[in-house]
Amino acid sequence: MKYLGRVLWSGEELAEKYARKLKPLLAGRTHRKKELKNPGKTYFDVNKNGCWNWKMRINADGYGEFGINASCYLAYKYFYEFLVGPYDKKLRLDHLCRNRACVNPEHLEVVTQQENVRRGNGLAGINSRKTQCFRGHNFSEENTYVNPRGGRVCKTCIRLKRQGKL
Ligand SMILES: [Zn+2]
Ligand SMILES: [Zn+2]
Repeated sequence: MKYLGRVLWSGEELAEKYARKLKPLLAGRTHRKKELKNPGKTYFDVNKNGCWNWKMRINADGYGEFGINASCYLAYKYFYEFLVGPYDKKLRLDHLCRNRACVNPEHLEVVTQQENVRRGNGLAGINSRKTQCFRGHNFSEENTYVNPRGGRVCKTCIRLKRQGKL
């Protein structure tokens, strides 16, 4: 499955890539200040899109969370920082897979607030993620006209319409 032109890793490949780091985390043997409780517990299931679906508490917004010493942490942020590294907290972590319960660090990308809105689930966001027009023509640079409202228009379709073929 492709999102934003970027091939996502499968869950298995990823688990292997991060195996060394994940093992102590999942076994509850990390030496970090913030430690996940319940040693040995499996925290997520891998689905066919490669999403790591959080199996523990899901908050009202749909994000996985867990508590450590009376503090609440968002699971996806924790996994990103633990496996990839710290990021600028002024920026947002965006789910490329649109699945908020997912904690797969490869499905997360640090984006500016503006970019996050563009990629959101609004019409503009959905349209900007499509790689083809609804007739199946590619939204390549040459074939795409961006209208004043920021929407993309397929030039092939415009041409076909002009030629009376649509
Ligand atoms: Zn995902
Ligand atoms: Zn088209």
